[in-house]
Amino acid sequence: MKALNPEICFKLRDARRLAGLSQHVLAAEVGCKQSALSMFEQGRPTKLSTEVVEKLAKKLGVDLSAAAPSPDSLAAYAPGSGFCPNPQCPSNHAYQVAGRALYSPDRAAADPVGGRFCAVCGEVLERFCPNCGAPVHAGAVCSHCGQPYIE
Ligand SMILES: [Zn+2]
Ligand SMILES: [Zn+2]
Repeated sequence: MKALNPEICFKLRDARRLAGLSQHVLAAEVGCKQSALSMFEQGRPTKLSTEVVEKLAKKLGVDLSAAAPSPDSLAAYAPGSGFCPNPQCPSNHAYQVAGRALYSPDRAAADPVGGRFCAVCGEVLERFCPNCGAPVHAGAVCSHCGQPYIE
């Protein structure tokens, strides 16, 4: 099986919530630790074995093959969902907070068509937080883990 996209973690998490199962109960049923399931659900697909992930998917009725996009299918992402990870790229606006340089990604400038590469500098676009793997939201800082997208 190919490396899983962090999206599958969130998809399985949402499916578990919809099913009304706690992490504790589901972990016991598929034979993994609740702590590992918790980290998996935060966007770290490597925290669970392939076997356990397949059990989870089967139990929750999630289709893994449909949920793990290949790089070629990145074009299916919505325009403006990616940001440029290059701090020197003009699409990122630098500003200072308490003497620290932060960058506010301009996702519309970097990713006007939902492509793979930054429209301004050509860098490969990021669509997930480099720190925790959560899908990128508007703003300079990940709303999931609190880390800036670009350092
Ligand atoms: Zn760029
Ligand atoms: Zn994050």
